[in-house]
This record gives sequence, structure tokens and C-alpha cells, in this order.
Amino acid sequence: MNLSRNFTLQELIKSDTAVRLDIDNNPNANQIEKLKLLCENILQPVRDHFGPVTVTSGYRSPDLCLKIGSSINSQHCKAEACDFECPGKDNAEVADWIYKNLDFDQMILEFYVPGEPNSGWVHCSYVSEKPRKQFLRAFKEDGKTKYKPIIGKAKDLV
Ligand SMILES: [Zn+2]
Repeated sequence: MNLSRNFTLQELIKSDTAVRLDIDNNPNANQIEKLKLLCENILQPVRDHFGPVTVTSGYRSPDLCLKIGSSINSQHCKAEACDFECPGKDNAEVADWIYKNLDFDQMILEFYVPGEPNSGWVHCSYVSEKPRKQFLRAFKEDGKTKYKPIIGKAKDLV
């Protein structure tokens, strides 16, 4: 089943952990509609601009979230967020382009190391009602994950 021209439902629900632990990671009809919006409004425009996109995590059922230590309040659980990369492209550049061109809800440049274009990944969510356009970076400090707003361009992070 295709969610947009270049994205399938399978890509957005695939989880090695779910397979390995036999966890049901199937979204309901309402969640599939949200995944479709995520593809149409975020992933497909990114694909059209940057070329192939690798989705590393999309929908996560509550069971899967609990198993991998992710929050059940995460937008992954609501079928509103996905993690991805564009192979060979700088994650900061991709994030900056999304910031400038798309109506996202929350975008997190995760564990990106300035000067290392392939480090980390992009987390991006979409909601149809009042997107926040919140742009953050996540990084580790003293073993804990911290978040800070990105002011200006991610490409200019040092
Ligand atoms: Zn994520």
C-alpha cells in the first residue's frame, strides 16, 4: 500500500525489534491516514528535493515504544513522526531545507555532530492542526539526552 508516490505503509511501520519480539506494530485506519499526511507533507517533498530517503523509524505501537524505552507519548506513537536520513546528504542541510519550506510540527536534528554530515538523523512530525514549527537539536550531555532550540541554521552549528 502506497502512502504517497514514493513511500509505502510498510516503510513507515517496519521495525526489526517488533519482528524479533513478535510485537504488533500495525496502525489503525486513523493512524494510517496520519502516516499518509506525514508522507505527503514531509517525506515526499524531501524525496522530491533531495532524492531517496531512508526511513529508520515511523509508527511505533505503544508496546513497541515500551520495549525500546521510548515514551508512549511520543509522536511516533500517534503516527505523526518519523526518523529518516537522505543517504549522502548532510542532515543539517536537510533539516534547514525542511525548516524553510515545509509546515512541520516539530523537527529534531538528533545527535548531529557539526562537521560530520552523516552523523545523527532527522526526526520530523506533522499535524494538520496548528503545526508548532518547533526546531530543536538533541545531544548527549553527561549521559543524558538534552534538547535545545536551533536559532538560525543547523548548518551554522558549531
Ligand atoms: Zn523520532
